[in-house]
Amino acid sequence: MRLQFFFPDSQDQIDPSFDFNTEERSIYRIRQRDDRYAHEALAAPAFDGFLVSKTIVDGLPNSAGKYTIAQRHRLYRVGIRDFFRLDRRDGPRLATMGDCGAFSYVRDEYPPYGPDEVIDFYDECGFDFGISVDHVILGYDPTADDDRDHPQGAEWRSRQALTLQLAAEFRARCKARKVSFRPLGVAQGWSPRSYTSAVKALQAIGYRRIALGGMVPLKTGEIKTCLSAVDQVRRADTRLHLLGVTRCDHLEQFASLGVASFDSTSPFRQSFKDDTDNYYALNRDPYTALRVPQVDGNPKLRARIKAGHISQDKALRLERDAMNMLRRYENGRASVDEAVDSVLTYERFCDETRKDRSEAYREILTDRPWRSCQCGICGPIGIDIAMFRGSERNKRRGFHNLYVFHQQLRQAQESAA
Ligand SMILES: [Zn+2]
Repeated sequence: MRLQFFFPDSQDQIDPSFDFNTEERSIYRIRQRDDRYAHEALAAPAFDGFLVSKTIVDGLPNSAGKYTIAQRHRLYRVGIRDFFRLDRRDGPRLATMGDCGAFSYVRDEYPPYGPDEVIDFYDECGFDFGISVDHVILGYDPTADDDRDHPQGAEWRSRQALTLQLAAEFRARCKARKVSFRPLGVAQGWSPRSYTSAVKALQAIGYRRIALGGMVPLKTGEIKTCLSAVDQVRRADTRLHLLGVTRCDHLEQFASLGVASFDSTSPFRQSFKDDTDNYYALNRDPYTALRVPQVDGNPKLRARIKAGHISQDKALRLERDAMNMLRRYENGRASVDEAVDSVLTYERFCDETRKDRSEAYREILTDRPWRSCQCGICGPIGIDIAMFRGSERNKRRGFHNLYVFHQQLRQAQESAA
């Protein structure tokens, strides 16, 4: 069975009209019409499904979501497939899954929604799968199983019980309302044994698709231990989904333990969040992107200029020099040393505490991985994909990472099979 990768939506799109030389956009650009999602920008599918959280769309009682009011109305009106233009491209059908975005209310005592509100969201938008309302357990400690005095034990137990109760209500309401999506129940736990008892309870309620939550901080080995324990009680027809995986190595091992799918933003976010692993490549560790921040667009840099710590004119000049030198390198008119030097000079000027990345920069510049990449984004934009600079470049590199990640996953699964 192929492990399905769901990419969580955060309204990340790229603007095809963005000009990398002038850094300007077309004045005729209309976001909703012209901007492109990952599945539209890439040459081949990079994920099997799309995950959309209710909190991102509708917000919480005390904070807005990521959607504008107009976007929100349009999503409810036209449905998820039309909104994301999922059926306007060739290739396998992308599945859609809805969840409650439980991390956004993890600090609250209770989830802000009841089952019926969540069912409204899933049903009106036309999802394929809908996940029951849950409450995340932030912590992992198997000693809490038997230790009645464990400091978090009582809270963890009550969150698990609440999540199971909500799952039972959710399923009953889905049945009564004859919904068109397939419901998933959530298992929350803090140990192999607690996850196992949650899965058992969900199967007794009638769930055959179960999402395992709260595994974000777990190491791959700990996830595996939990899955092996769960496997002892898992029915042969029960399929598991791992919610919010951050460590995406060795995921293929989980398929034999009943994991049918998972979701993760890591490959995308590493492009601009990770200190070193920014640009994915097949059969090796990710490359480090070239830091060339925009003087105008970098809040840290602006603050230092404002405070009089560094000169704005000099910052602008070094930024321009670095950009020019990288372009010259790409066109064969400058050496690797010249390119590395100009980037490092600018980087050190911006932040002299920065660690020395010269080796990493030399490596990505020498290998020029964007020249052989088939993702459909690297080819046309060239060396700009490797620059850690502004959201148009960083998001494109994030999309590229999704493409490479998907290929790695398929490769790993084929060799594991
Ligand atoms: Zn690429």
